Amino acid sequence: MASFKLFLLPGDGIGPEVMAEVEKITAFFNANGLAHFEIEKGLVGGSAYDAHGQAISNADMALADAADAVLFGAVGGPKWDGVAYDVRPEAGLLRLRKDLALFANLRPAICYPALADASSLKREIVEGLDIVIVRELTGGVYFGEPKQIIDLGNGQKRGIDTQVYDTYEIERIGRVAFDLARKRRNKVTSSEKRNVMKSGVLWNEVITALHKREFPDVTLEHQLADALGMQLVRWPKQFDVIVTDNLFGDMLSDVAAMLTGSLGMLPSASLGETNPKTRKRKALYEPVHGSAPDITGKGLANPIAMIGSFGMALRYSFGLNEAADKLEAAIAGVLDAGLRTADISNEGGAPVSTAQMGDAIVAALGRAYA
Ligand code: NAD
Repeated sequence: MASFKLFLLPGDGIGPEVMAEVEKITAFFNANGLAHFEIEKGLVGGSAYDAHGQAISNADMALADAADAVLFGAVGGPKWDGVAYDVRPEAGLLRLRKDLALFANLRPAICYPALADASSLKREIVEGLDIVIVRELTGGVYFGEPKQIIDLGNGQKRGIDTQVYDTYEIERIGRVAFDLARKRRNKVTSSEKRNVMKSGVLWNEVITALHKREFPDVTLEHQLADALGMQLVRWPKQFDVIVTDNLFGDMLSDVAAMLTGSLGMLPSASLGETNPKTRKRKALYEPVHGSAPDITGKGLANPIAMIGSFGMALRYSFGLNEAADKLEAAIAGVLDAGLRTADISNEGGAPVSTAQMGDAIVAALGRAYA
């Protein structure tokens, strides 16, 4: 039976609460002989700071590096608001992304029919929506040099950020998007601002050439990033996979997130380069939400974003597509049956707790495998 090394970093706030529900699911797979997950756990964020004075220890970084996949909960909270900048909770996540060279961020926006009324858009626009935004995560204007504020000496200052992309960075994120589209509805929409930015001209040229050379079977279209923002709220179902740079991806994926209703529903994956020898790639899976200090310890957290992130690991790190399909169907099934945590509950029905939602998903999974 296939065996996989999974490294869990629950983190702070509701992180450990939602991670506990994922552990019920790995236990289900292990107990039923469907897969074998070897699980190790570490500390990240404020909990790592309290234990080691760092946002993640070198020993835990080594375990993350050796794992087949890292599952990350959430970090931060008021307790650590005053700690030094380089050991603040978020530094743990940034180090993981940097040291594991996770250049591709995948954020699905799926609108379950049962939750279509929780979206701020009309039901017919979002019901059944299933798109993925592939955002470049390690380059572009967030990292380009020079990056500084200079004093012009005349009472004025100048803030400078540099938007910069090399061919290889655009090609590798493009490949992730085209590969993903082949496993879905076979369409990629590439987005930049080639009308006003040189990096956008190059982005467009490189994606067009890559498509022609390696992925002619996939449908490719280009949309300017501002127009795409408008189309996302006007007619989001026209998209399948959207690929874009770090800055536009940051904004557009938040817009897409709101189409689906709640932060508690949104999973994500961050992927690195595939090792040509082992055919494995570094990968970290995390919910989009943070540590939610306002609801920590109350059993109110929705575990679906965290469980959905594990579902993405089943698909993208372990190649267990049938298990991923069954887990996604189990989530859709409990929602169809009317189960709601407080963040997605409609008036009338009594919401279930974090643990009750996790238990119901495990039970639905059990029925799917019966
Ligand atoms: P947040 O995502 O933690 O919470 C925003 C709102 O959404 C809160 O009202 C919260 O209760 C609710 N919410 C979030 N996840 C939920 C879930 N699973 N179920 C039900 N409700 C949920 O964002 P915030 O309040 O801006 O930040 C809180 C802390 O989290 C801060 O310290 C921030 O720095 C940190 N943060 C961490 C990450 C991360 O670890 N990747 C991401 C964002 C924010």
